[in-house]
Amino acid sequence: MSKEEKVIPYKIYLEESEMPKAWYNVRADMKNKPAPLVNPATKKPVTEADLAPVFCDELIKQELDNDTRFIEIPEEIRNFYKMYRPSPLVRAYCLEKKLGTPAKIYYKFEGNNTSGSHKLNSAIAQAYYAKNQGLVGVTTETGAGQWGTALSMACAYLGIDCKVYMVKCSYEQKPFRREVMRTYGASVTPSPSMETEVGKKMLAEFPGTTGSLGCAISEAVEKAVTTPGYRYVLGSVLNQVLLHQSVIGLEAKAALDKYGVKPDLIIGCAGGGSNLGGLISPFMGEKLRGEKDYEFIAVEPASCPSFTRGVYAYDFCDTGKICPLAKMYTLGSGFIPSAIHAGGLRYHGMSPVLSQLYHDGFMKAVAIKQTEVFAAAETFARTEGILPAPESSHAIKVAIDEALKCKETGEEKTILFGLTGTGYFDMYAYEKFHNGVMEDYVPSDEELAKSMSALPDVE
Ligand SMILES: *Cc1c(COP(=O)(O)O)cnc(C)c1O
Repeated sequence: MSKEEKVIPYKIYLEESEMPKAWYNVRADMKNKPAPLVNPATKKPVTEADLAPVFCDELIKQELDNDTRFIEIPEEIRNFYKMYRPSPLVRAYCLEKKLGTPAKIYYKFEGNNTSGSHKLNSAIAQAYYAKNQGLVGVTTETGAGQWGTALSMACAYLGIDCKVYMVKCSYEQKPFRREVMRTYGASVTPSPSMETEVGKKMLAEFPGTTGSLGCAISEAVEKAVTTPGYRYVLGSVLNQVLLHQSVIGLEAKAALDKYGVKPDLIIGCAGGGSNLGGLISPFMGEKLRGEKDYEFIAVEPASCPSFTRGVYAYDFCDTGKICPLAKMYTLGSGFIPSAIHAGGLRYHGMSPVLSQLYHDGFMKAVAIKQTEVFAAAETFARTEGILPAPESSHAIKVAIDEALKCKETGEEKTILFGLTGTGYFDMYAYEKFHNGVMEDYVPSDEELAKSMSALPDVE
């Protein structure tokens, strides 16, 4: 039987022996490399020495490495991956039938672990390199809570300390996420806090503030650089995180290759860009090398539209302006997105790698309003059974739209999308949607112009 005649199972699994042994670094195949991080004091590209007080040494190497195509996954990380990977690649037969589309839809499901998202793929890598360096622990921030949970799990497994600054409104609204982190032994502090100078300053200026991701980042960085034996780790945006997340794309590609299936269109939600970057990396590599062609679509919330309405410029990564500057599509570091329910997509900037690829025309982006996202989430839950995270549902919405376009044109496109996680901790959001009280907020041009007028002066 030829590959084409094989019946595609509902789920395509890989054998343990077929799992990736190295991460793929898409930067190696980019002609235009992503712009370097810049030291805000000198306005020169950062050096390993600049970053050493903040990040782990091996992760700095990965961050700055634009040339090595494959980076070996250490055995201890591969063993950890085996506990919850390979993640299933699912043929969405039920959804296809429901939509009545000739399109073939596949999704890579990353929600099969306690953190409920893909973030564990990078958390274990970052915790591993911290431990290997002999560090006591790591600090980080979390907004919606998935990253903090993933990191707590990884640190518990490796026996290192984990300090999480959790945006205050999430800390109060999502007590269950907080308790999951504490179950894994992490200390969780609502941000802004009185533990750091940045936090104290913020509380003095804005006494009633419920915090922001940018502020929590500043607190976590400050804590790391002022506490011996600690470094800071970040769950998205950075080049190293995209590198670790390439495991998603490598597994997806290996599974599809087994059945001779080539996707035409690959879709993912984009907050800081890590799941999308990871999913598309190996496919993008083929496109960049001129071997195969694919269409890629980033889906972002209409309330935080970095790609579709932002500018491509150097900007601060955090509110406290203590991190290196990154060149990226940004809405300005002072932009405070409305309190949409896809907490993981509320970041003002975007991965420098994806920003460069988007700028060079290798991928597209669309922005979607949250009520449409939840309608798609519900359709998906009712047909495929999985209760999706609001973030992931952005990708679902566009996959459904594209499949319906195929219904009109009769095209039999093969669509692959990233289903990044589950939504069990987001039931307040679902409740609002069901009660018809969910609002769609789209920032005005004036509002965006204001936050984008405060960009740092770096070319
Ligand atoms: C964090 C998160 C996202 C968005 O982050 P990216 O870095 O853009 O991938 C999407 N989905 C889920 C479930 C998340 O936890």
